[in-house]
Amino acid sequence: MSNQLIHPLLQEIGSLFARNGKQVFLVGGAVRDMLLRRPCSDWDLATDARPEEVNAIFRGTRQRVNIIPTGIKHGTVTVIYRDASIEITTFRTESAYRDGRHPEEVRFSSSIEEDLSRRDFTMNALALGLPGGRLVDPFGGEADMRNRIIRCVRNPAERFAEDGLRALRAVRFAAQLGFEVEAATLAAIGGALDTTAKVSAERIRDELDKIISSPKPSAAFLLMEKTGLLPLILPELALCRGVEQKGYHRFDVLEHSLLACDYAARKKYPRETALAALFHDIGKVKTRKLGGDGVWTFYQHERESGVLAGDILFRLRYPGAVIEKTVHLIEEHMFHYTEDWTDAAVRRFIVRTGEEHLQDLYALRFCDTFGMAGVEPSPELLFPLARRVEKVLQKGRSLSVKDLAVSGKDLIAAGMKPGKHMGIILNELLETVLDDPEQNTREKLLEIADNLRKRYGSISS
Ligand code: ATP
Ligand code: MG
Repeated sequence: MSNQLIHPLLQEIGSLFARNGKQVFLVGGAVRDMLLRRPCSDWDLATDARPEEVNAIFRGTRQRVNIIPTGIKHGTVTVIYRDASIEITTFRTESAYRDGRHPEEVRFSSSIEEDLSRRDFTMNALALGLPGGRLVDPFGGEADMRNRIIRCVRNPAERFAEDGLRALRAVRFAAQLGFEVEAATLAAIGGALDTTAKVSAERIRDELDKIISSPKPSAAFLLMEKTGLLPLILPELALCRGVEQKGYHRFDVLEHSLLACDYAARKKYPRETALAALFHDIGKVKTRKLGGDGVWTFYQHERESGVLAGDILFRLRYPGAVIEKTVHLIEEHMFHYTEDWTDAAVRRFIVRTGEEHLQDLYALRFCDTFGMAGVEPSPELLFPLARRVEKVLQKGRSLSVKDLAVSGKDLIAAGMKPGKHMGIILNELLETVLDDPEQNTREKLLEIADNLRKRYGSISS
């Protein structure tokens, strides 16, 4: 590769190693992304220098440099040099994976070719010599990239059996790059599901996140279905295949969900919206009933979908806030606005949804609508509702208990006993005010509260 394309800092490091009689290469994803002209997030270097030698080489420069022994056991040090953070790993060869993720022992090697041979796919087994830019490509990675093919280095069955994460990486790259998975590589995934079953939830989550933020998540999910990864990792979604919903949908629930997720990815909606798009209908499998008129119904499927999505995201160790938001969006996705909604109905919709979630819920509706026919929804789809919501919000009327003209303290001052009825009464006051904002004055609310107290008082005493 022309060395004009190589970052000056990498060239500088290359010259530094050369002066010390050592080899250094840019390796892995950075080379792949450079050849594909994609932005690359991190630089990984490989060298024949041992970690202590890497240390000495940088110390000798008299530049300010910070060396962190991130993975000394694996021969990796992180070098913070002129504001860049670079992982430098001594050439390795690996053997004997017992847990399907981590090699039993790491042995250093003296050749870049050997180091490349332990990598997963040919496109990830490329190295660029520094500073000159000589491409080392022992497995035909450059040609595979030109043909847009993901292919295992050497024997695919062995590669997948060594490390179960690789199967997920293969389908993830297919979605990210729009590449095909080569036939023998694809065929080997199904034979290594036992190994993939051992991959930690966190690693699966990270791959799922990369899939749903790729240009076309459905490409990965369809490959997962074909290879058996989908029933293994997201059985709830796999079961949506063949769940027909004729009437307003052209597709079965799986196809619909994948299209909805593709739309979220295309629009770069936030992670929770994309997850909600993917899982918003999975409850249809259990709630589906065939009516006498031959039409399927799915009553309350949004609740069942919310429960299942919560289980999935918990199992994959998503942060609590992500789970909560995703489940909330799913539970609220079935709103049906009509012009005859009263202002009170609009206020109730806002309160249920939460003002801060409105945009994401609208976005989810766009995903859902796209998923019904695979056709771009009109940008005006939600204008009528959004306009009403804006109007109500502009009036600045109370939308939560804390906006009421009275507080719990006021009720206590008026002689009410603190306790569980207090919360019930405050919520009833809010209901009243949502229906009729004019009631939100201190006198009115105290009067209503007093009546409620008498009612509850007579129940409890
Ligand atoms: P991305 O950074 O987009 O996740 P990447 O290919 O750069 O993709 P990294 O995790 O940064 O992935 O790994 C860097 C390189 O290490 C890869 O390009 C590949 O050569 C090698 N590698 C990573 N994970 C594996 C694995 N599970 N098996 C074999 N080699 C791997
Ligand atoms: Mg990378």
